[in-house]
Amino acid sequence: MKINFISKIINYGLWQGADSLYIELNDSEFKVDYHSQNSDDLILNNSAYTKFINELKILTKHQKLDSGSSIYFKINTPINTRTVCLTSIAGKEHKYLIKVIEPNSTSWRLSKLAINSDKLKTIKAHLKKENNQGLIIVSSARREGKTSTIQAIAQEIKDLNLNILSLGKINDQIPYIDKDNKWLHKIDSQELISALNKNQAQIIINDLEDDNIIKALIEYSLNSDKLIISTLKADSSKDAWSQLLKYQKDKGLTKKINFILHQKLFKRLCPHCQAKAQHNSYEKRDLDNLSLKYNLKDVKENSYISSGCEKCQHSGYIKKVPAFEILSFQNPHLNSSSLLSDAYNKQQLGIISANDLLNITKI
Ligand SMILES: [Zn+2]
Repeated sequence: MKINFISKIINYGLWQGADSLYIELNDSEFKVDYHSQNSDDLILNNSAYTKFINELKILTKHQKLDSGSSIYFKINTPINTRTVCLTSIAGKEHKYLIKVIEPNSTSWRLSKLAINSDKLKTIKAHLKKENNQGLIIVSSARREGKTSTIQAIAQEIKDLNLNILSLGKINDQIPYIDKDNKWLHKIDSQELISALNKNQAQIIINDLEDDNIIKALIEYSLNSDKLIISTLKADSSKDAWSQLLKYQKDKGLTKKINFILHQKLFKRLCPHCQAKAQHNSYEKRDLDNLSLKYNLKDVKENSYISSGCEKCQHSGYIKKVPAFEILSFQNPHLNSSSLLSDAYNKQQLGIISANDLLNITKI
């Protein structure tokens, strides 16, 4: 069923934190009012009006939708497939209320990071396991964005009522040692390990990219029954894996690594000035090669570009969005598809540009 336009309108709201919206139609205007204070509303032209009506006809199978009655349908978001309820509202103008129904099982904070919902469920179940121990790594090539992932994981663990301790301050809810890292900065591994041994916390979380601390934590994960969650600088999940093995040659480590969550941030296309991208022949060739090489559907098919407007300070981009991959040898059910395929799904929804997708494969 082709409801690309309605999907995009809803996805735009979801990305701004709104899960419901009003749509108002009159002859010349198509108005979208998102139910979130921080969201920008949209006023679109006649062609949007026509697209909406055509897609609504598909959804209602050409039946008139009486005032007060609703239809349910599914849309794809970068995170999962969601059920949407569209209700017709009485009034002089055509007015519709659209609500996205959030499945309870995914309503936890990591979901805000745009990880696939099935993966979220398995990660959450994994964190919940009794006697969980070993190592979980959050890796990326650059520091930016990793902290939000670590914070989200820490908050989830806190919500599970597990005893957690962070090295350095992550937020006000999580107990920490050494708020400003002054002591941690010059600590040796023996001191750190004895401090951790004295602490009751079952889970230790580290956001500091200090080689000595990471090395000490890896060693500690081998010899204790605690669960260590740490960041690591790496170019891919596989790179993180080989780095860990270099840090610690002990073969026992492979059994201790729960999983590696690798991420990369992409510039997020501005939704206000977005249009279908017209690629030149060179870009077309490169994008075709990309599709072929990584077995993706035609990348050009749903390719968007933002030309720049006041909302994005004429840059065409607003904020950033991560793409993820999860690697686990011990727990194969946690493995995800590649970071590239996650990024591709986001590109197809107009969240990142085809050229930015192309750039990651050139590294
Ligand atoms: Zn813009």
